[in-house]
Amino acid sequence: MVRAQQATSARDERGDDWRWQAQHTIRTLPALEHALTLTAAEREGTQRALSEGLPLAITPYYLSLIDRDDPSCPIRLQCVPRAEEASTVDGDLRDPLGEEAHEVAPSLIRRYPDRALLLITDRCGVYCRFCTRSRMVGDGGGAKSLDALRPALDYLRAHPEVREVIVSGGDPGLMSTPRLRAILSALGELPQLDTLRFATRTPVTLPQRITDDLCRALRESHPSVWVMTHFNHPKELTPTSLRACARLVDAGLPVMNQSVLLRGVNDDEDTLEALFRGLIRARVRPYYLLQMDPVRGTSHLRTPLSRGVALMAKLEGRVSGIALPKLVVDTPGGAGKIPLGRDPVVSAAPGRTTLRTFRGEEVTCVDPPLDEGLPGPT
Ligand code: SF4
Repeated sequence: MVRAQQATSARDERGDDWRWQAQHTIRTLPALEHALTLTAAEREGTQRALSEGLPLAITPYYLSLIDRDDPSCPIRLQCVPRAEEASTVDGDLRDPLGEEAHEVAPSLIRRYPDRALLLITDRCGVYCRFCTRSRMVGDGGGAKSLDALRPALDYLRAHPEVREVIVSGGDPGLMSTPRLRAILSALGELPQLDTLRFATRTPVTLPQRITDDLCRALRESHPSVWVMTHFNHPKELTPTSLRACARLVDAGLPVMNQSVLLRGVNDDEDTLEALFRGLIRARVRPYYLLQMDPVRGTSHLRTPLSRGVALMAKLEGRVSGIALPKLVVDTPGGAGKIPLGRDPVVSAAPGRTTLRTFRGEEVTCVDPPLDEGLPGPT
């Protein structure tokens, strides 16, 4: 009965209201048991999540995408806790990207010369079981006020070489529009910023949040605001989420997507192809396919590095270049992202390089003769 109501409500008038979705988010074991037939491992994982670690949160909308009887459902694997979260393996880290070590002002992380990351809330519509920031999301004091972010703004003002701010969390899409508008406008006043990046998973987990009012707030805060969202599976490309993406793009906001490569969720070529094709159909540019960070308690969802390289090699040539994201690994400790890919060089000699195409053919490229009158490479 409750289950049926939830599924219906995700579609009816109240379900179209993002605040209703947020208020009716599943946060307890009994509510989850009502909605899904849980395995013993899921029940144990949920009990643990409620007492320690990353909490449980699943919006009614995202819940409606889950197969209630299939524990291997790719949506379910992303949001229902499992007993394996209690296990740690060699290389697991609490803060895999070394964000705490790179915090230059409260809530401001700087790992690159020209970019900085501003974490303005710890709340999300859904707590993804693979979250890189599981150390703090759901447990970091809630949404930040503009006053709390003053030291970060002061830092940015004093460092004009920072040309881009990535506004993230948690999921900043969960914040009220007035609070968000105040923070984004304060950032928009920094004269050095080329662009503001707004990272939100709400188009995937709470697409009702993408209202005209939110789009206006984003659009008006800075001339160049890019939205970065996070679809991992084609099942997430529903009419509702596609409408949310269309609303953003039609409002003049470029939308990019980063996916995380997740074992059992999207680590096969057909799933990735369907995802990437669906994204470009929605005018969302697949930007990154991320090797999953070694967050403690997530080894059951991780793939070896070689898996992503092999998958992208299979998709090369088969899928249009605009649909193919960059495969990257964000190196542990915060040393930065490194692109990964198959090595196309078969042999290299002075002036001649032999390359292997996506079809496996070998092709030799010949350099032009060096003209000593022209400047050479420096
Ligand atoms: S929405 Fe983002 S920050 Fe929130 S739990 Fe998911 S991955 Fe982590």
